[in-house]
Amino acid sequence: RVVVVGSANVDLVVPVPRHPTGGETVLGGTLERHPGGKGANQAVAAARAGGADTTFVGALGEDESGELLHASLSGAGVRTDLVARVAEPTGTALISVDPNGENTIIVAPGANSLVTVGPAQAERLAEADVVLAQLEIPLEAITAAAAARREGALLVLNAAPSRELPPEVWSAVDVLVVNEHEAADLAGRGDGTEPADLARALLARVPAVVVTLGGAGSLVAERDGEPVHVPAFPVEPVDTTGAGDTFCGVLAAALAGGAPLADAARLAAAAGALATTAPGAQESVPTAAAVADLARH
Ligand code: ADP
Repeated sequence: RVVVVGSANVDLVVPVPRHPTGGETVLGGTLERHPGGKGANQAVAAARAGGADTTFVGALGEDESGELLHASLSGAGVRTDLVARVAEPTGTALISVDPNGENTIIVAPGANSLVTVGPAQAERLAEADVVLAQLEIPLEAITAAAAARREGALLVLNAAPSRELPPEVWSAVDVLVVNEHEAADLAGRGDGTEPADLARALLARVPAVVVTLGGAGSLVAERDGEPVHVPAFPVEPVDTTGAGDTFCGVLAAALAGGAPLADAARLAAAAGALATTAPGAQESVPTAAAVADLARH
């Protein structure tokens, strides 16, 4: 069983000929609305692509965006009974994309700033094999989720967006998942530092680290051995949005099923690769059958 504690956002995406500068108005193309947010994306991935019994702990507003997120989560088979409906608007990301694919993103956290772990959430967390969290919600919720775990359950933290964490959060983490930029940030090194060095530096704080490297795969490092490179599966990417979230969700699902970390990372890589072959975040999450099929090759 997997419990994901995190954010849910509606992504409002507008194609623009170029990004506006201060005080300027730019006419864009057709508005698209997609269900997103790292927490909800990872929950959809754990359920649909990872095949895990998955609960999402998060907060949505009493609005149309909340309905969109709710439909996406339950459509993927995620349990939504512990999602709070709160008196703040659903989290919203305002995204503009220029012809080079370069985007700018503004996030209004809204309901995500009210994510809490109450008694009902704590009870479900105590039944989890893996608790998966990211950093788009209040730290108190992450700390409470870590505390509610049963003995032996794993806390997987995707430290995105990267920010400084108190020692009690670091000491609770079993597996840290970060991309290269987040790894460099947290290790206090410059971008361009060797990923293996970043992983080794982060092992001083947590027992296991996965550094994702986009089309170059990922690096899995544990305290008792040398970092292992897990190659990416070759695909023709059309939109890499959601690849990292799909990777995290499937990694958590595989760990909950008892897989060793390197095997879980290989399955997560197959899912992440497939997620790049379709647009959107939650909409691009592949099925467990498609993931198993690619991972067999
Ligand atoms: P993030 O989106 O968080 O920066 P990454 O871009 O590192 O995350 O992607 C996460 C994982 O998804 C990678 O480790 C890899 O396994 C897979 N992936 C991402 N981009 C590609 C790609 N172009 N081709 C194949 N696999 C990819």
